[in-house]
Amino acid sequence: MGMVGGGIGAFIGEVHRKAAAMDGQIELVCGAFDIDPEKSKEAGKLFFLPEDRVYGTYQEMFAAEKKLPEGERMDFVSIVTPNHVHFPVAKAALENGFHVVSEKPMTVTSEEAGELVALAGETGLEFAVTHTYTGYPMVKQARHMIRNGDLGKLRKVVVEYPQGWLSTKLEGTVQQATWRTDPKQAGPAGAMGDIGSHAENLAEYITGLRITEICADLTTHVEGRPLDDDVNVLLRFENGARGVMHASQISAGEENALRIFVYGEKGGIEWHQHNPNTLLVKHLDRPMEVYRTGVDHGGYLSDAAMHNTRVPGGHPEGYIEAFANIYRNFAHTLGCLMQGEKPSPEMLDFPTAKDGLRGMRFIETVIASSNNDQKWTPVK
Ligand code: NAD
Repeated sequence: MGMVGGGIGAFIGEVHRKAAAMDGQIELVCGAFDIDPEKSKEAGKLFFLPEDRVYGTYQEMFAAEKKLPEGERMDFVSIVTPNHVHFPVAKAALENGFHVVSEKPMTVTSEEAGELVALAGETGLEFAVTHTYTGYPMVKQARHMIRNGDLGKLRKVVVEYPQGWLSTKLEGTVQQATWRTDPKQAGPAGAMGDIGSHAENLAEYITGLRITEICADLTTHVEGRPLDDDVNVLLRFENGARGVMHASQISAGEENALRIFVYGEKGGIEWHQHNPNTLLVKHLDRPMEVYRTGVDHGGYLSDAAMHNTRVPGGHPEGYIEAFANIYRNFAHTLGCLMQGEKPSPEMLDFPTAKDGLRGMRFIETVIASSNNDQKWTPVK
């Protein structure tokens, strides 16, 4: 793995490095870790990389790595920069023959995302987008039960992602707040792109249904902030199910309180990322059941949930393991492709460029809906 972004003081790059290393499938071999080439070198030293594999820019990195023999050069790049840098780096990676793992939102426009989907298709290279929450075993269990028809026809989805950390004006003092509230770096959406994109992805992943129409209301509560910090959306799904999504960075005191409720004709599920090893399963005719990661009582957990679990129940698995599941599945997929083998469905279970494109279209539709007076706006 090579990495672009994730220098000293960066947030998510470090999580990626830990997650990628967790299962011994992936080794960090090079990087262009910072917008400042000198700081990239400093970071490379901390990661014990040889000096000649630490680059000043991603362009230098792709050019130099391409010249190295197979087996020595990086196989894929992990992109952990602010949003506006995802597209140029991913495009250059694909054009130079490298697979891609990219942070979300995949790009800043759906045109860019579409271009990357096409390029990945043409080159036959793999492209993962790190919608982290799809990596949790109990999210996979919920998806399995819905696919299996355990809830019956789905009727209602409620998905919420409240945070409180941007309740005051941190931009200008905190690096992560500064670029997230700057349209030139974050793209056209604030809270919607940053965490609403996760909520949309989680709802479509768990239900297997596409959101077809929405009615959205974007708001900016903190004075002088050019992007939304609060999002409220009504959802209509392709099977007629209805839903509600809200995402917010001004919900005072909230941490990363991502929650999803799905209700069908026969029952419901509830999952909360603050308690990610528990899935509540609700019924019409008996009390609620508590499913737990790694507690398989005679095989009631799905293969997908077990495949993405590392330790016996009661030993908590969390955010970094969820990230690691995306990396492990991606690495196994690459391994199969390199050896001319077919990856299994469990290996292919990671968010792809097409999911990233769905996310970009959803973001753009939310903005369009919020700006018009029409009640319903179709998602492209
Ligand atoms: P950050 O500001 O902490 O780090 C960004 C890093 O990118 C910095 O080291 C910066 O120097 C580097 N960088 C910027 N431009 C560069 C360039 N041209 N070349 C090389 N390096 C460059 O940001 P963050 O909070 O870590 O967010 C990074 C990305 O991760 C964003 O897209 C964000 O949406 C995403 N993210 C995802 C999750 C998740 O759960 N999946 C969580 C947090 C952040």
